[in-house]
Amino acid sequence: MIRLPDPFFRTIADEAEDAYPMECCGLFVGRRKDAGDDVLITRVQPSPNVAGGDRRGSFLVDAKIQFDMMRELGDGPEQIVGHYHSHPDHPPRPSDRDKQSVYYPDHVWVIIGVEDGHAGEIAAYLFDHAADQFQQVDIVTGNPGN
Ligand SMILES: [Zn+2]
Repeated sequence: MIRLPDPFFRTIADEAEDAYPMECCGLFVGRRKDAGDDVLITRVQPSPNVAGGDRRGSFLVDAKIQFDMMRELGDGPEQIVGHYHSHPDHPPRPSDRDKQSVYYPDHVWVIIGVEDGHAGEIAAYLFDHAADQFQQVDIVTGNPGN
């Protein structure tokens, strides 16, 4: 289960609407509980979408933002646990291009749909390498502490 406190959900929704009709993207910092897929998001770091192609259908997190974040986090308890991007005028289901962009096996993928400029459904996935496909995981938004 992915726990995404409301303020972060709103950040993602705002970024997705601002970027429309392009995709937005950014990183999640958080903590993993046990070794499972129970992840608490503690920070959201938006990134410019630096994809070289058509950014209405692709995204790429700025490598400098990612490396700066990794350096800042060091080997502390919080790590980069995943990333988000938006799907303008498409449902939040991983695309074939997304599947080709799985570089970090443990990263949580969060996708938010945007329809006509309005943020919509949000969904989270982990990539199952044995099955060679994304598996949807629960994502819970809400107030911290609830
Ligand atoms: Zn996508």
